[in-house]
Amino acid sequence: MPDATTLDTSSLATNSLTPAAAAHDDAHAASAMDEVGLMAPVYPLPRIELVSGRGAWVTDREGNRYLDFVSGIAVNALGHAAPAVARAVAKQARVLGQVSNLFANRPAAALAHELAEATGYPRVFFCNSGTEAVEAALKFSRARARHKGLAGRDVVGFRGGFHGRTAFSLSATWTPSYREPFEPLMPGIRFGDLNQLEGLDTLIDEHVAAVIVEPVQGEAGAIPATAQFLRALRARSEAVGAALIFDEVQSGMGRCGTLLAQQQSGVSGDFTVLSKALGGGLPLGAVLMTTEAAEALAPGMHGCTFGGGPIAASAGLVVLERVRDAAFQARVRSRGRRLLTGLKRFARAHASVAEARGLGLLLALDLAKDATFDAASLVRACRDRGLLLVRGGERALRLLPPLVVTPAEIDQALERLDAALTSFETLTPQKEQSS
Ligand code: PLP
Repeated sequence: MPDATTLDTSSLATNSLTPAAAAHDDAHAASAMDEVGLMAPVYPLPRIELVSGRGAWVTDREGNRYLDFVSGIAVNALGHAAPAVARAVAKQARVLGQVSNLFANRPAAALAHELAEATGYPRVFFCNSGTEAVEAALKFSRARARHKGLAGRDVVGFRGGFHGRTAFSLSATWTPSYREPFEPLMPGIRFGDLNQLEGLDTLIDEHVAAVIVEPVQGEAGAIPATAQFLRALRARSEAVGAALIFDEVQSGMGRCGTLLAQQQSGVSGDFTVLSKALGGGLPLGAVLMTTEAAEALAPGMHGCTFGGGPIAASAGLVVLERVRDAAFQARVRSRGRRLLTGLKRFARAHASVAEARGLGLLLALDLAKDATFDAASLVRACRDRGLLLVRGGERALRLLPPLVVTPAEIDQALERLDAALTSFETLTPQKEQSS
């Protein structure tokens, strides 16, 4: 398997640990694959065990190298083991680790300031994950409606939308197989069709407190909402007094080529939810909000022990400083175009591929309905060729490289994906051959 980088594994050497820690570390290194059998069976098994990474590359326990186009599911914007993040985290951990929100801490205040300046949302609530941030934004929307004396309590989500696994977030998530085992969930949730302008007035009425939408549906397989649709949501929400929540957990922090994907449509929400890339690999979520939305909140109404802790916030400051830079965003857009152009070539050349789509570096390849293999088999075939990908939607593969991926790495990933697709085509002739 080709290598793009040389890993510095010196910091992983067990002789840098205490004897007890080293023994613990060895035992765990030897048994991690067995350990997965001890975990709740909510993830597909078996999984390859990754032991180290640098940039767009990871190494498994057997020493195999992979190009990682999963990035911790759109988390590692700056790549694996980004030195600036590691330095900031180590420095902060030596000074002050966790204080709770009973006390202020400088990194969280600085991150709130930088986020406000970079996004235009003046207030922020910090938590640890995407679902927690969505949960908070949905709660805050109901509080906002109550505070404004509005009757609306319902929530509008969209088919294909994914917002997380806690009760309120899950209720607004479309995928029935995620929701049904846990029903009854929250009442008062309605679903509309993404990009469907017709019928919005009926879907969003005065009984609605919040409309939640991903500017690019991530888990559904990189499906962008149109600018026209987002503008119509903004107008209709305003008309009935509902809050508009942009869930940018996956699409935000530069992934779509602008700091927030919504900026490409020229609209903003009452709330915007961030997580994933925000913490540079540490758990960090944020609800950005307008001053008016924040007016409904008061001390004691909501909280989070770890939210905006100094270590995660220090990492967030490093990520934000990089991804808010215009030249960085322009590079994401040009690398996204390079990858999408390659994927579109596959859509023309391979009968098994229906469509390539997405925005920036949130991209997907959708398999044809009559493909002789499914997305999970293609993920495995790519993995066997040294490329890590994640499924999306029913038949799609998502490509989520780190935002610092190089053009050469994009080309390598495309070659590997092409080889994986071709390997299935002994039974399915290529389009160019069959036409
Ligand atoms: N919202 C969106 C758009 C997501 O893509 C995700 C996770 O994939 C979530 C919310 C939930 O985030 P988390 O897994 O951090 O709870």
